[in-house]
Amino acid sequence: MPEKKMNIPFSKPWIGKEEINEVIDTLQSGWLTTGPKCEAFEKKLADYNSVKHAIVVDSCTAALHISLAAEGIGAGDEVITTPFTFCSTVNVILFQGAKPVLADIDSETFNISPAEIKKKISKKTKAIIPVHYGGQSCSMDEINEIAEKHGLAVVEDAAHALGAEYKGKKCGTLGKYGCFSFYPIKNITTGEGGAVVTDSDAAAEQLRCLRYCGIKKDAWKRYYGAGSWYYEVTQLGFKYNMSDVLASIGLRQMDKLDKSILMREKIAGRYSKAFGAIEGIAVPEVKENVKHAWHLYAILLDVENMKIDRNQFIEQLKKAGIAASVNFIPIHFHPYYKSRFGFNRGDFPNSEFAFERIVSLPLYPTMSKAETDYVIDNVIAIVEKNKKS
Ligand SMILES: *Cc1c(COP(=O)(O)O)cnc(C)c1O
Repeated sequence: MPEKKMNIPFSKPWIGKEEINEVIDTLQSGWLTTGPKCEAFEKKLADYNSVKHAIVVDSCTAALHISLAAEGIGAGDEVITTPFTFCSTVNVILFQGAKPVLADIDSETFNISPAEIKKKISKKTKAIIPVHYGGQSCSMDEINEIAEKHGLAVVEDAAHALGAEYKGKKCGTLGKYGCFSFYPIKNITTGEGGAVVTDSDAAAEQLRCLRYCGIKKDAWKRYYGAGSWYYEVTQLGFKYNMSDVLASIGLRQMDKLDKSILMREKIAGRYSKAFGAIEGIAVPEVKENVKHAWHLYAILLDVENMKIDRNQFIEQLKKAGIAASVNFIPIHFHPYYKSRFGFNRGDFPNSEFAFERIVSLPLYPTMSKAETDYVIDNVIAIVEKNKKS
């Protein structure tokens, strides 16, 4: 066990003078709400992903919600997604009055299993929301094939996967809609924020209208000219637009994105090299044909052969000054969904198996070699100390 105690956060945004200066520029410009900085950020996002449209909003939750709304998902419809995700993925389906139908993950990548999706298709199914867990793409060829066969829209929850790729194509551009998160621990941040990308002109027009109160810009521009006081609400929309103050942060974060993924990858590589040699720790499996964005680094503990469980393991890390997390508590374990949909333990065995063993370790671009080594030494020491003899 290393002697000097360090304090390692779970995550840390990589913010420098570039972001700070861009925010100051915006604050001094006199224009704070959605404007030129959002537009410039959208252009950067679209160019980076080689996609026609990017629409920025105030969270990935909002991005997912307006994608389903743009697709016309509503009461009586079913949307298939994974139980191994953040609650937002499921909530947006419920916001639209549709029914979430969960399909279990595969145990290697923790991504939704195409075979499980097939079992859950019904006449009511309208869309699939795959989540690229931790920054590794789902099996998108298989998922798109199922979607095409049944006429379903694919809305990618790419909250972890900005910069990730599948067969050389960016995650978020593999379905009809791709949704990103700029929450502080995600691969880039705006404090809070999100975006949808799409190649469909019609969908983009709908998304822009839905993110800002259902107001259609062009309709009123036609009669009164830009900058006029007149506007028309054409449908029920949301107030999900992003502020130019936050878009300024995103603009400068985009400049660092590829570098920050390389830095994350290097740390993940160090982790896997060290833990790969340890009995009792399973390291993340990286599939062929993907570029991993390394939002998360999650290990599985061999709890059957340990004297402590996953929670006690995290407690011991905490005592050593290391903040770890669990991604995710399966959806069907949360009281709200459990009581609303009557879920039971055993409904999604692969998600449950992962949940009982999984630990997300600290991972952020500026994590030093000393910090990484400190985590490695402590994780290994705790595993070794608690092995069943
Ligand atoms: C973070 C996250 C979201 C929500 O992102 P927000 O920007 O916080 O709304 C959605 N899905 C997944 C898988 C996430 O991890």
